[in-house]
Amino acid sequence: MEKVIRTIVRINEELCNGCGLCVTPCAEGAIELVNGKARVIREELCDGAGFCLAICPTGALSIETRETVPFDAVAAHRREEEQGVRYIQQSCFRCGAGEQKAVLIPVRTQGHSRWVCTHCLPRLIHG
Ligand code: SF4
Repeated sequence: MEKVIRTIVRINEELCNGCGLCVTPCAEGAIELVNGKARVIREELCDGAGFCLAICPTGALSIETRETVPFDAVAAHRREEEQGVRYIQQSCFRCGAGEQKAVLIPVRTQGHSRWVCTHCLPRLIHG
């Protein structure tokens, strides 16, 4: 199988507490909980964009550059469609706006990993 050098998510098993918060932000469905730990189940599904990183409350997720299989956009799209019914819509923790109405960004605040919309983000930063 073809190998390339590219970015991909790395999961520190010792830091992972199995909360599962990183599963939903991964639109490609590359991350699942296996035996209570987050795992990249198929490396070709992980695009290495890192949208899952900020939501992890323990810092278990990072991005590394290493040799692996190429990202497979077709397989990721197929997986997205398969996962449609499992999808959990997120909302802004301040105003409650859902992602159909607002752009949401994962943030760390007051010891919690949360989603905030771009409307509320400046007030979160500046008070
Ligand atoms: S968000 Fe972090 S701690 Fe929770 S399952 Fe994912 S990697 Fe583990």
